[in-house]
Amino acid sequence: MTPFDAIVARTRIAYFTMEIALHPEIHTYSGGLSVLAGDTARSCLDLGLPVVFVTLVSRFGYLRQEIDAAGLQVHGHDPWDPAAWAAPLGAKITVDLDGRPVWVRAWLHLLKDGSGEAVPVLLLDTDVEDNAAEDRTITHCLYGRDEGYRLKQEAVLGIGGVRLFRALGFEVGTYHLNEGHAALLAVELLRRERLPSTDLAANGCAYDVAHVKARCIFTTHTPVVSAHDQFPYELVARVLGGLIEIDQLRLLAGAERCNMTQLALSLSGYVNGVAEQHARTAHRLYPGYRIRAITNGIHVGTWAAPSFAALFDRHFPNWVHEPESLMRADLLDDAAIWSAHVEAKRRLIDHVRTATGLGFALDQPIIGLARRMTGYKRPDLLFSDLARLKAIRRRHPFQVVLAGKAHPRDEQGKRLIEEIHATIRALQGTIPIVFLPGYDMAMAKLLVAGADVWLNTPMPPLEASGTSGMKAALNGVLNLSVLDGWWMEAWIEGRTGWAVGAAGDSPAEHAVSLYDKLDAVVLPKFHADRAGWVFMMKESISKIPAYFNSQRMMRRYATEAYLR
Ligand SMILES: *Cc1c(COP(=O)(O)O)cnc(C)c1O
Repeated sequence: MTPFDAIVARTRIAYFTMEIALHPEIHTYSGGLSVLAGDTARSCLDLGLPVVFVTLVSRFGYLRQEIDAAGLQVHGHDPWDPAAWAAPLGAKITVDLDGRPVWVRAWLHLLKDGSGEAVPVLLLDTDVEDNAAEDRTITHCLYGRDEGYRLKQEAVLGIGGVRLFRALGFEVGTYHLNEGHAALLAVELLRRERLPSTDLAANGCAYDVAHVKARCIFTTHTPVVSAHDQFPYELVARVLGGLIEIDQLRLLAGAERCNMTQLALSLSGYVNGVAEQHARTAHRLYPGYRIRAITNGIHVGTWAAPSFAALFDRHFPNWVHEPESLMRADLLDDAAIWSAHVEAKRRLIDHVRTATGLGFALDQPIIGLARRMTGYKRPDLLFSDLARLKAIRRRHPFQVVLAGKAHPRDEQGKRLIEEIHATIRALQGTIPIVFLPGYDMAMAKLLVAGADVWLNTPMPPLEASGTSGMKAALNGVLNLSVLDGWWMEAWIEGRTGWAVGAAGDSPAEHAVSLYDKLDAVVLPKFHADRAGWVFMMKESISKIPAYFNSQRMMRRYATEAYLR
């Protein structure tokens, strides 16, 4: 038996995801969804779960971000070399797209941690010689081009992935659909379950849906409805042609448009949102479906700064495999916590100097905000009243570091980047603020450990979960956040962090609350009450990662969804 045969033989579960953050150099990711998928894979490795991951190879990556002199985001491809990280597999299959067969092959990447174990990741690729030039580009650009391109990518992922399993000999009993992008995998399973015509369901469904539901698990990740893929049926008919009758698809994916979230809901026997509140919001959007909650978590071994990892190693030898042991971090020595933080902060300050030439002060708090630049995340809320911000800064000095990419077609997101740069120029000499271009995993690691305060100001209830604040908490960086997503479950005012605003507040009230908290509570505490600050760091480290970790999350998926 070759090592690959052994992997095939033991695999029982498949996790399909459009993007996954395996390593900073493997550009198959854009943001939070992929980091979650990557942390999921890393926890599968730690827990020995028999899961294979399936994604697109995305040779040109997502987006290489640069900012020009006017503060505009300049986009480019962000290519990477699959051959440096993965091995090509021999098997190939076809998926009919636009009326012609498209060949799909896979690269095998093995996610390893030094233990000798590995989690397999299949990177699907249509850039193979037998394909027409146009079809070779299908797996090039993550979230690229137009909706026809997106639909083809989803077909390669879902349909191609299931067919390749067969060709490679995998016997998968359980399929996990990470977001609606993977919904076509369930259609491919359904195609094989046609009922005898005498057994048509009452609604006219010609397939054994229950059989597919028993094998599929669907995790929905956003309550922003415009982010749910919805394709016109004419497009679906043209691209996917004979895959399944369109009238049958309408029964499952909606009468008007082919809604991939609804399709996944219809074909999955276990459905969950990614935080308690998100499950409730998702249920309101799609009434009639039972939507459970499994709150997201982070892989602590990946996201702890080296200085904190060393501290945890000394006191909690098994903390990566059993993050619960961090619950005793409140007993750690104040000086040890502070010096681990100072080391992480120095690394960030060094990076800021290298990247921008600006010198940040070690003794002044750094407010960090890094997330996808898009409207609902409101990365500019901090700048809504510059006179007030300047007055606060005169009383209590602080510095700000920002980062984040906007999707090339997100006009509002790109405008936010431009406006933030105009604000930075306007505040030059008054408040030290930098925007670091090219937010990625490596930069996230520096930011979530090197800041003092991690700011999060989305428009509730649109942040399904959020995970960067969990990474910050693990490193003793205190969260200052609107009550939304995961933070509603972790927030203890003045202990694990602070809330911006109260439930039901208007956007304008959020800004006032943010300034009030900074001025009266957060910044004075940093400057005048070091012991109180370190107490909160310890509360944060002991209460948050002990629960909001991907080990706990995967134990729940395994016991409640996979083994159901
Ligand atoms: C953790 C992470 C995210 C997710 O952050 P949110 O809090 O969900 O916005 C996005 N991008 C990168 C690079 C990350 O590391």
